[in-house]
Amino acid sequence: MRILVTGAAGFLGSHLCDYLLQQGHEVIGMDNFITGSPDNLAHLAGNPRFLFIRHDVSNFIFVPGKVDAVLHFASPASPNPNSPYGYTNLPIQTMKAGALGTHNTLGVARAHNARYLLASTSEIYGDPLEHPQKESYWGHVDPIGVRSVYDEAKRFAEALTMAYHRYHGLDTRIVRIFNTYGPRMRLDDGRVVPNFIQQALRGEPLTVYGDGTQTRSFCYVDDLIEGIYRLLLSDEHYPVNLGNPQEITILEFAEVINRLTGNKAGIVFKPGSRLGDDPQRRQPDITRARQILGWEPKTSLEEGIRLTIPYFRQKMGL
Ligand code: NAD
Ligand code: UDP
Repeated sequence: MRILVTGAAGFLGSHLCDYLLQQGHEVIGMDNFITGSPDNLAHLAGNPRFLFIRHDVSNFIFVPGKVDAVLHFASPASPNPNSPYGYTNLPIQTMKAGALGTHNTLGVARAHNARYLLASTSEIYGDPLEHPQKESYWGHVDPIGVRSVYDEAKRFAEALTMAYHRYHGLDTRIVRIFNTYGPRMRLDDGRVVPNFIQQALRGEPLTVYGDGTQTRSFCYVDDLIEGIYRLLLSDEHYPVNLGNPQEITILEFAEVINRLTGNKAGIVFKPGSRLGDDPQRRQPDITRARQILGWEPKTSLEEGIRLTIPYFRQKMGL
């Protein structure tokens, strides 16, 4: 296939490009570098099956030649207001990537009669009242909360994707991605994994927001990418959760990072740093992924963190 990947210079997008090239496909990567980096794609320079187009997906998209599949991953993704790359500091760009970017990428897929895959998120469930979250749960989202620029853009993107499927018969898929981590995460994007690993490697206390009782479920990037590829090859049009169901509190997570890095500086609580609508619990129900895709994550949290630490060491010049 000849596949368009938007958000190609980002964390997930760049791993996706690598995986699709390994599977023998041709890849067109598109990005405007608003939160991503050319470093993530540098190793693909000169690859005859990879073409990069620098472009903002909020504007009309033109792709030369045929396109067999479109994977729309372009969007800021970090909620952290302390980072210039957090979506609360890029609110309009985030809404445009989710709304206009989804419209334009769906348009490309329709023009080329290509299959389409939307990167959605567990954030469409908001601060969930149902636990763990199944795809049938409608969510608990504040439409004007600080996270709403991201959550509502993704909810709109899902609705638009289903409209193209139902009205135009477009061959669409929606993946709801839960917290994923690994090499190529931006050091300064403010998400918990880069924050904690860097603090630990500098021998500093880890900044736990709130009281640390909020939970997340962390998936290693290679597992996620494999699941996305399975979904792309499937005929499933309804949303599928992908993530690791192993749930952990942020406080326990901080302890794991300190143990694996040998950091003796402990933990510092920053109660005021927690966003107003920071979800209290998050854990995917991956029954559908297991049944439809025969997929489940293989990498334990400890293994995944061990695989991620060398990337941070190298980027930090340690
Ligand atoms: P990222 O910030 O590393 O990557 C996003 C990429 O999109 C960046 O390279 C950025 O420059 C690009 N981009 C943003 N707006 C753009 C625009 N208008 N035009 C062109 N390019 C644009 O983040 P990520 O973690 O790799 O997330 C990728 C996708 O996966 C996002 O859609 C995000 O919502 C989704 N997602 C990620 C996670 C996660 O845990 N990493 C969880 C849920 C959903
Ligand atoms: N968090 C934290 N310390 C940090 C960064 C984040 O305690 O230095 C918390 C944050 O409040 C949230 C969780 O870790 O409860 C995960 O945050 P992240 O920004 O990674 O993404 P989210 O899952 O909220 O989208």
